[in-house]
Amino acid sequence: MRLDTGLLSRRSVLQALTALAGAAALPAAFVGRHAHAAMPTLPPDFGRGRSVAVVGAGVAGLTSAYVLARNGFRVTVYEADSRYGGRSLTPRPVRAEYRDWWFAKYHSERQFPAMYVSEYREDPARSPDPQPQVCRFDDPLWDPQSGKDPLELFLNAGPGRIPSDHVAVLDLCRRIGVELEPYIFLSASNLLQSAAFNGGVPIPFRQINYSLMGQIAEMLATVVRDGHALGQYSDGYRNRVLAMLQQFGDLNGNLKYDGSSRLGYSHPPGGWRDAGVVNPVVPFDQTLNSGFAGGGGPASTAGPVLFNADNIIWQTSLLQPIGGMDRIWQRLMMQEIPADAVELRSDDPRSAGLSARDAAGSGSKRYVGDLVVLNHRITALEDDAAQPRMRVGYAWSDPSTGKTGEGSAAHDFCISTMAPNLLATLKTSLPNGFRAALGAVLQSPAIKVGWQSKDRFWETGNQIYGGISWTDDPIRQIWYPSEDYGAHTGVLTGAYNSGPQAEAFGNLSQAQRIEAALRGGEKLHARFSQKVHADKGLTIAWHLMPHQIGGWAVDTANTQPEIYRQITTLPQGRLYLAGDAWSQLPGWKEGAVTSAYAAVESIAYGMTAGKAKVAR
Ligand SMILES: Cc1cc2nc3c(=O)[nH]c(=O)nc-3n(C[C@H](O)[C@H](O)[C@H](O)COP(=O)(O)OP(=O)(O)OC[C@H]3O[C@@H](n4cnc5c(N)ncnc54)[C@H](O)[C@@H]3O)c2cc1C
Repeated sequence: MRLDTGLLSRRSVLQALTALAGAAALPAAFVGRHAHAAMPTLPPDFGRGRSVAVVGAGVAGLTSAYVLARNGFRVTVYEADSRYGGRSLTPRPVRAEYRDWWFAKYHSERQFPAMYVSEYREDPARSPDPQPQVCRFDDPLWDPQSGKDPLELFLNAGPGRIPSDHVAVLDLCRRIGVELEPYIFLSASNLLQSAAFNGGVPIPFRQINYSLMGQIAEMLATVVRDGHALGQYSDGYRNRVLAMLQQFGDLNGNLKYDGSSRLGYSHPPGGWRDAGVVNPVVPFDQTLNSGFAGGGGPASTAGPVLFNADNIIWQTSLLQPIGGMDRIWQRLMMQEIPADAVELRSDDPRSAGLSARDAAGSGSKRYVGDLVVLNHRITALEDDAAQPRMRVGYAWSDPSTGKTGEGSAAHDFCISTMAPNLLATLKTSLPNGFRAALGAVLQSPAIKVGWQSKDRFWETGNQIYGGISWTDDPIRQIWYPSEDYGAHTGVLTGAYNSGPQAEAFGNLSQAQRIEAALRGGEKLHARFSQKVHADKGLTIAWHLMPHQIGGWAVDTANTQPEIYRQITTLPQGRLYLAGDAWSQLPGWKEGAVTSAYAAVESIAYGMTAGKAKVAR
């Protein structure tokens, strides 16, 4: 174990920490609390007298800020954008009455008006069509004067679901009061569609899935019964296997699969003598050629979607915050913190708002949201070992006046949560090799399209209640809402793809994207274009959004192991890194939260072991 050399990887920090666990220098509450999913537990005044700059007000930045502030640190969160949340973006209706209703329901004191997002735009320097995307979803039956609630309409334009094994996010939700409900990943009525299958006509998941299970069970039963498999076992043992296969595939008494009600009905059973009509078995070759089960021919680009729900991240049950994914960072922002965690500079844009709040008699309470300065783009992170503190340079803008300027501040530590590739372009004191590795991280483009529907046609027409239908069209998937069943409208995610398909989609104008997504929707639902409000469609290309470089890093730890080793081998100093790119879970909030915990732990370790050069 070498603690005195220039480079300290996170692993060696944690190994060192474990080795030192009995040492008197470590605060008792910190010892052994580095389990990845657990929020770091430090003594309340652990950070007293130390100030931390956090770069980015996404989930990683706000989580870092929350943990730091509640443990005595002074914190400033610099956010380049004019909105909070980063990739966790949930646009909501622009209508003023709707906004008022939302604040009255969730945040009646309106401490942070920018919390409600109804508009965004892609980066004018990179997007082919950066016109603002304004959310015009509306509940046609809602009368604001009635005192009744409207249907809550929003598009989770970034994250939309939480796997049940994402324990850190779920624990965080519990702590900060985010209410959750089931997110349906798979409804057996969801549709699968591919040009290479069934003449391009979509059919329900259950019909393909249970046909395949029956056919596989029949094949296995034949080889077991005829002694080609398990021949060395007793008859009794093989009969038990055959009985199991009969259950697995719903085989008949002759161990043949000739269809069953598992396949669903083209005409459902009803009263009196109406026995219904069961869907036909899908021939094995058709399923094999479709690509839905893998092994598809070159004509099929559908992908093995039949088995998606078996992946640990998509296994039942997933969860979603009630009211939209932005509830996580909104609840983070509303956590009360010690008042002295807020550090204001003389010309701080937050001062006026805080004074007004205090004058209005809100009891001088301070919240995590008070730590954030919007419209402050970090341009330099300089950690000169000869200086007592590190220097954070920024470019600020004031959208209300159009004024811009530059400034800098000194902090004891910094946690940066911006994408590695963006960090690589800043003026920093990071070694060239480290910066080169940051710039080499591969990012995946990602796009989404959202629709408000005119009715719940997928429920009444296809018995689909939540889940995802899949197609080999570039839209790839349509998500149905997991909430408000039986309502009069709802929001569909009408396209969600990544990689080259997203790249191509992002190259289109907004109108072309809308047109392409409507065409894709037609493949799953006839007359789709007439069933949604095409004029209210929203599109987003994440790789073209300001201060973003992609939807997520392409699993760097596994696809670029050497790059990942380099970017997780932090040069010793006062700069720490967090964000989902610095985790084994890129593209997941779990990665954002666990990396934030790791960064805070690393700061705490550095302070405790006396390795960091901190002004005292
Ligand atoms: C389409 C899509 C679908 C997804 N689906 C899911 C899902 O279902 N479930 C799930 O758990 N996760 C999902 N994710 C991933 C999830 O959104 C991210 O893991 C998480 O939001 C990342 O948070 P972060 O704080 O690490 O990064 P970000 O949210 O990107 O935050 C970084 C912040 O840094 C700011 N910034 C950048 N440069 C600067 C600068 N120079 N100065 C100041 N600020 C700067 C940015 O503006 C941004 O606010 C999805 C992502 C996308 C794009």
